[in-house]
Amino acid sequence: MPETLQAQETLTVLNPATGERIADVPVDSPRSVADTVARVRASQPEWEALGIEGRFRWLARLRDWLLDNEERVLDTMQAETGKVRGDTAAETIYLADLINFYGSKAERFIGDETVRPHSALMASKKLMVQHRPYPVVGVISPWNFPLALALGDALPALQAGAAVVVKPSEFTPLGVEEIVRAWKGEIGAPDVFDCVHGAGETGGALVDHVDFVQFTGSDRTGRRVMARAAETLTPVSLELGGKDPMIVLDDADLDRAANAAAWGSMFNSGQVCLSVERIYVEEPAYDEFVAKLTGEVRKLRQGADGRAPRKDVGAMTSPNQAAIVEDHVSDAISSGARALTGGKRGDGPGDYFEPTVLVDVDHSMKVMREETFGPVVGVMKVRDEEEALRLANDTPYGLAASVFGEKARAERLGRRIEAGAVNVNDVIVNYVAMDVPMGGWKQSGIGFRHGEYGIRKYCRPESVIVTRFAGKREPTWYPYTRSRRGLVTRVARAFNARDWRRRLGLRKS
Ligand code: NAD
Repeated sequence: MPETLQAQETLTVLNPATGERIADVPVDSPRSVADTVARVRASQPEWEALGIEGRFRWLARLRDWLLDNEERVLDTMQAETGKVRGDTAAETIYLADLINFYGSKAERFIGDETVRPHSALMASKKLMVQHRPYPVVGVISPWNFPLALALGDALPALQAGAAVVVKPSEFTPLGVEEIVRAWKGEIGAPDVFDCVHGAGETGGALVDHVDFVQFTGSDRTGRRVMARAAETLTPVSLELGGKDPMIVLDDADLDRAANAAAWGSMFNSGQVCLSVERIYVEEPAYDEFVAKLTGEVRKLRQGADGRAPRKDVGAMTSPNQAAIVEDHVSDAISSGARALTGGKRGDGPGDYFEPTVLVDVDHSMKVMREETFGPVVGVMKVRDEEEALRLANDTPYGLAASVFGEKARAERLGRRIEAGAVNVNDVIVNYVAMDVPMGGWKQSGIGFRHGEYGIRKYCRPESVIVTRFAGKREPTWYPYTRSRRGLVTRVARAFNARDWRRRLGLRKS
């Protein structure tokens, strides 16, 4: 049957906090993905020609729209993720900040550069670099921060002059859809920003048609995306999972460390790539730290709230995630771990897992090795900072880490952790420090967002070499003659040799 006559598939979007069905969204077929990419591709040259300032004017209108419609946007996102209101708060503010950040820094990061030639032989040339965008960037994003991640990667690409097509997670398509609708409708911006919906098949089709893929998700899917992109030699940037460690030294402020650990591990129900998933505490501080952390976690209120923040920990957004969390906890408990609080799924309706603190854990257990991505944290006692460091680095992941302790000592230790970011006496904060790069080492990713990296990656450098003064021909051009060749060699030697014998071309005596 021709594709147009087939019944269109739909995604059913549920509210994970209540289990209610909230929308049906049509799935984009591979052909519809190709059409969307072709359409925005056609508008991209005009968008690029607007220049950094011209593009920022449109993005600034989107910033204003986001701030004016904040509550509405957060309502949509809260419904499709099952987050508590407190966990939604940062997303629109982050996006507004990001628009302003790249608006003010883009000229410095991707503006034309004039480069001084390294050699006097190039003195007759003017050397320049212009950073031109990949025409169409495909952004594939997960469900845990549906706006901050999808738009967080789309906005710098738009500022760079690319057209962008986003494929949000199949579990959370509504927030991105609402913003794309506003861009095209209420804001009336150029037709260079769109989204397509569906799961793996739609994502794969997007990889086939775009010029650059910005992917955020699990390392398992990241591998597939990279393999698919290899077929068309399309460059990728991958922001993948993590198993972030926290180290607590014996000279740490234990109240701050315990409060940070409680928030860092339970924020967004632990569904954060930068979540504190495992903690190593120096022996003298262990008992007090564990008591304080457990006390904090026991106080957390779990459930659904509305616009007014009344709860601390929300639902599990993806229907599969609670099962993974349950598996990690039961694997740990069956191998001798103890849950000091929590340890099981919450009561329905909705999909919840109780905030859980595990002790007597070790690195043979999934909960200390694999990404749990839920409201669970494992705490281990260590002899000293060297043991903490060895265990912190004993992982295939390397997204971020945190160290709590006396400032200089904690920084010294933190610098030896193998990860894309280290927070000293704080957690997760590297995500909003957009001046510095954010990305994963090892199996946590390839490429970086934020800072200069977060916009330059969407561009290809084009070197422009302009001849300022010249004769009818260069000495290296035709015809090749003995005298011209001799001249070129003598001049080249004179500039490149670093001693007189070689400069004058004398034989070794
Ligand atoms: P996922 O890998 O299951 O899905 C991510 C996206 O890829 C979704 O949009 C999905 O539909 C799409 N997809 C699935 N199969 C595909 C295919 N074959 N080709 C193309 N696209 C495909 O991840 P998830 O469960 O949505 O998100 C959770 C994961 O994301 C966790 O591992 C988390 O650590 C990671 N994450 C990383 C960061 C970061 O910045 N490093 C941020 C947030 C989340």
